[in-house]
Amino acid sequence: MSKQWLIAGGGISGLSAAIALQKCGLPVTLFESYPESKPAGAGIILAPNALEALHRLDPSLKVRALELGLACTEMRILSDKGAVLSRVHFGKAAPSVTLTRVDLYRLLMEALPQETLQFGKKAVAVKQKNTGEPHNPVLVLEDGSERDAEAVLACDGIHSALRQQFAPAPLRYAGYTCWRGIADLDIKQAYCTETWGSQGRFGVVPLPHGRVYWYALVNAAPGDPQVSAMDTADLLRHFARFHDPIPQILQQAQHHPFLHQDIADKKPLASFAHGRVAFLGDAAHAMTPNLGQGACQALEDAAVLADCLGEASSPESAFLRYDQLRRSRAHQVVATSSRMGKIAQLEHPLLCKLRNLAMRCAPASLSNRQLQWLYRMP
Ligand SMILES: Cc1cc2nc3c(=O)[nH]c(=O)nc-3n(C[C@H](O)[C@H](O)[C@H](O)COP(=O)(O)OP(=O)(O)OC[C@H]3O[C@@H](n4cnc5c(N)ncnc54)[C@H](O)[C@@H]3O)c2cc1C
Repeated sequence: MSKQWLIAGGGISGLSAAIALQKCGLPVTLFESYPESKPAGAGIILAPNALEALHRLDPSLKVRALELGLACTEMRILSDKGAVLSRVHFGKAAPSVTLTRVDLYRLLMEALPQETLQFGKKAVAVKQKNTGEPHNPVLVLEDGSERDAEAVLACDGIHSALRQQFAPAPLRYAGYTCWRGIADLDIKQAYCTETWGSQGRFGVVPLPHGRVYWYALVNAAPGDPQVSAMDTADLLRHFARFHDPIPQILQQAQHHPFLHQDIADKKPLASFAHGRVAFLGDAAHAMTPNLGQGACQALEDAAVLADCLGEASSPESAFLRYDQLRRSRAHQVVATSSRMGKIAQLEHPLLCKLRNLAMRCAPASLSNRQLQWLYRMP
């Protein structure tokens, strides 16, 4: 029997990578450290490039995403009074889709046979064999077991244990912290908004079934205990002067759980390919969420890897080609996202006014053109 292709991590990148391997007819086992599927996060926006990646992996995945989610044609940046500063039009032919993380995980997991996924198994390292087949890696699990592999895909997220082994890099704290959740409120809009004020930023993303995914970002020192203790009632006070429906959303959000985390990224890997080990998703290119692209880029990784595996004669050559095709684009997204965060999180009132003025004066065609490279998968 041919050796298994092993995946460390069962998030969006691990699941989509498993679909890519399955598409190529390769035997795959995925190890996820959580004891069960546990989608982290509330909602998510899949931009047109992510929908294209899903389509390339399997056309039915895109169809299902459109069924489960809500098509969103536009992202509007607003001032804290609600004035439109900028609009990014996704387009009717290729919209973005908003959905809950639970639905996105379900969509990906339904495309895989259950026996592919092993929960409660944490990968701790990869060993290269010195005898026998020298190129074949061995995945070491926390329970002490060792699994021979044809190749290993490291999809274990921003805190990747495998990246720590191959190319360690510290977290780069972005300077702001984020809360997010889902509220039951039918805001009756087919576009997403992000409101930029000197006290912070607030995102409103309509979801199907009269719900809304919200997120709030505030500048703070990393791990500040007072900030970490803030709940949705505190956020309601903090954003009280922001335009409607933000106070209403935060009022409603008090009946639901929410998540809080400091925002960080990492210097992206200099190479996504290390012999028979390839890095995908946040393990390769963890980014700040300012462009809403982390998961979108992970889906692009998987779709491109599937193409490379279909064309190459060995895992090593497929991984090298994957690295060539993906690295510079992913690096560019990490850098652009970080820059965008710095502009969006300005807090000096005068600088905010100047920024808002510049955004209002910029022609709509310019803001649309600026992001087209991002939304079109090469
Ligand atoms: C506030 C916020 C909002 C965001 N919004 C968007 C958005 O709208 N659109 C978008 O595209 N992206 C968004 N992102 C980014 C997106 O969430 C991530 O880029 C994406 O989830 C990365 O997927 P991943 O599978 O690479 O990593 P993860 O989601 O971190 O998954 C890694 C998985 O590996 C498991 N794991 C970890 N270590 C091990 C190990 N050693 N062995 C086995 N398993 C392990 C973990 O339990 C986890 O299940 C957002 C991020 C944040 C923080």
